[in-house]
Amino acid sequence: MFTSGKELLRVCRENKMSISQVAIQREMENYGTSLETIFERNKVILQVMKDSAIKGTQESVKSVSGIIGGDAKKMYDYANSGNTLLDSKMLKLMSMGLSTSEVNASMGKIVAAPTAGAAGIIPAVLTSVQLDKGFSDLQIIRALMTIGAIGSIIMRNASVSGAVGGCQAETGSASAMAAAALVELMGGSPQQALDAASFALIHVMGLVCDPIAGLVEYPCLFRNSSGSVNAYISAEMALAGITSLVPFDQVVKAMREVGDEMSTNLKETALGGVAMSAKGQEIQEKIFGSNCGKI
Ligand code: SF4
Repeated sequence: MFTSGKELLRVCRENKMSISQVAIQREMENYGTSLETIFERNKVILQVMKDSAIKGTQESVKSVSGIIGGDAKKMYDYANSGNTLLDSKMLKLMSMGLSTSEVNASMGKIVAAPTAGAAGIIPAVLTSVQLDKGFSDLQIIRALMTIGAIGSIIMRNASVSGAVGGCQAETGSASAMAAAALVELMGGSPQQALDAASFALIHVMGLVCDPIAGLVEYPCLFRNSSGSVNAYISAEMALAGITSLVPFDQVVKAMREVGDEMSTNLKETALGGVAMSAKGQEIQEKIFGSNCGKI
């Protein structure tokens, strides 16, 4: 939809529009979609996101493999304990990031935005900010359009896939997309939204993709939790007036180049990182047998 952050900022500036307004306008022009249809479609998407972010906080959701499960509920209950390091809002955000990962691994319904592996970050961030600030569904749907615009630029110039660019590309991109949306929801400018997206990518540049047994479960769920926090802190930095020295487009290019230099062992092959730890190997053998992956 957009070729670069530079182009997106130019269109926003020339038309005095927010990123979501520009994204909605493009959608209507390019695909002939009515405003009503855009909102109706995104309403369905948003509801699935919210349900997946909440489910694991209320009940213990186990993965089909048995590797993960119940951590979102533990985190949520801990958030309500009254004896925590961070405030409960941040901890509930973390629990919602865990929740969608657990729902995904239990074969439940999720929105794979930008991917199934990183599907917890955007729902956690949007659900959290809506509960906290009282934004309407309409405002959150506009935020989804901002999320789509940032994602489309990353996909065009790098990747959102762990198999192509490592976890930096997957959970990093989800955090960047969510961070930009948070900035816009809080009244920040399009430039601030792109700065927040840059911070989110920089925070995890070089992060490898190393799922145990090749299943999108562990360490994926933790990265959805920390990725949700990454979106928030990146947005806060931009809203505080901190600017990104390196423009968004150059950060995306750097992420792509880092991904290109990464060994294939560190790109969703389960041949590196925690997947190759003794415990990771033990779990893999238990699930798939001792000859798994051996020629
Ligand atoms: S570790 Fe790999 S599979 Fe898991 S969330 Fe990150 S990119 Fe996706």
